[in-house]
Amino acid sequence: MSAKAKSSGGGWAAYIRSAREGGLILDDAPNAELHTRLRALPSVERLLEQPEVQALQAAHGREPVVAGARACLDAARTALRRHPGAEVPALAELSLAIDARLARAARPVLHPLINATGIVLHTNLGRAPLASAAAEAAAAVASGYSNLEFDLEAGRRGARTQGVEPLLCEITGAEAALAVNNAAAAVLLALSALASGGEVVVSRGELVEIGGGFRIPDVITQGGAKLVEVGTTNRTRSSDYASAITPATRVLLKVHPSNYRMLGFTGEAGLEQLAALARERGLILMHDLGGGALVDLRAMGLPHEPTVQESLAAGADLVAFSGDKLMGGPQAGLLVGRAAVLEPLRRHPLLRAVRLDKMTLAALEATLQLYRDPARAAQTVPVLAMLDQTVAALQARAERLGALLDASSPHRNDWRVEPSEAFTGGGTLPTQGRESRALVWTSESGAELTARRLRTGAPAVVGRVRDGALVFDMLTVSDAELDGLAGALEQVRRS
Ligand SMILES: *Cc1c(COP(=O)(O)O)cnc(C)c1O
Repeated sequence: MSAKAKSSGGGWAAYIRSAREGGLILDDAPNAELHTRLRALPSVERLLEQPEVQALQAAHGREPVVAGARACLDAARTALRRHPGAEVPALAELSLAIDARLARAARPVLHPLINATGIVLHTNLGRAPLASAAAEAAAAVASGYSNLEFDLEAGRRGARTQGVEPLLCEITGAEAALAVNNAAAAVLLALSALASGGEVVVSRGELVEIGGGFRIPDVITQGGAKLVEVGTTNRTRSSDYASAITPATRVLLKVHPSNYRMLGFTGEAGLEQLAALARERGLILMHDLGGGALVDLRAMGLPHEPTVQESLAAGADLVAFSGDKLMGGPQAGLLVGRAAVLEPLRRHPLLRAVRLDKMTLAALEATLQLYRDPARAAQTVPVLAMLDQTVAALQARAERLGALLDASSPHRNDWRVEPSEAFTGGGTLPTQGRESRALVWTSESGAELTARRLRTGAPAVVGRVRDGALVFDMLTVSDAELDGLAGALEQVRRS
């Protein structure tokens, strides 16, 4: 240590001295000064000996703290080089920098946020928030053992979906049910098990891309079946399906055009007509419904979105839908229909690859329990409860948020409450907004920069930007989130 200090104290100063004595012109004086200042930084070892940094090692472990200390010293060196006037940071300052760096690194990349977009089912923001009963059920099985695949009565191996299948049948009136990883997997599994090596007939108007590259023609090909397109983009009749049927036909597939709408001169064959045709020709009618409403949304003043029960009643042999769209549960792909049609799916090897995990199954079962009483579901399933809010309630929430902002910084006059249009999202009711209320905030530092600060803050907030202002739609913000949202806005106001 002392030898090192001597040499580090001696090097530049001695060099400068000898240069002067030798009558040389020293034009490197600022550099020499820089080196003196760089030497004033502590070593990694010295930094690690600080009590604050010792405490960090106890909390985070030695390795991350050593890496953090190195990174902070590197950053300090860079700062000294770039800014000739910069102060050499004190030990305490460096300790704080290590602490901040470790806290940043420990923050999970995937974390909760406040969705103020007014889009209830936002695929990028995790789609449906779970009912508290569903979240609790998932947590309950997460950290211990469970009877995931164990029949407790018989004391032997049981079916993984034993809890959710009877509930799905009870709620939808279906004869049989199955649950897999998501609706895309459900459709792939169904086509693989039912139509591989055969033909699947689909209307040209329904050869859609659902999003994320999930395209109906590709899924049919992946399932080992041949796609037979019928009709035209805007109009397809039942007779178009009938004349396309060959001995190789296995499935008539109807796809709900979830995320887009065709307007004008359009026409499609109804499920009833196709069901009659499928029965007559010994084929399977499958409905890829997507959204998967289990209750009629018209009761909430929304336009009609076809329900699973309606599809079955119209004669579909198999209906596929998502667990985390209008049903408001965890990510899952649900299949309901005739027992004989579902049987080949249960035996297909792909089922193992698309099965659900215990936490999702627990959340799914708890969500389905709520639907045994649709009135209770409307109140307790967050997606339904959000859609069912009155404009007056949304107005009141926006004003409460404004009051919180005024309480922390009075007389700013930087917000107002305005009407806004909120959306169901998740590829459901794409053209139909519903009336909502938003707090519109004009930030001094500009909307885009402010929006970015809010997205990267804690809690993170995602809103919309409209005409240079930030729009926080109250449909997707809960009362419990108001304090956090106000706090996040206040932080940006102050910075
Ligand atoms: C959303 C959707 C899917 C895909 O559902 P995931 O659960 O996201 O896999 C499939 N088909 C239709 C019609 C959809 O709307």
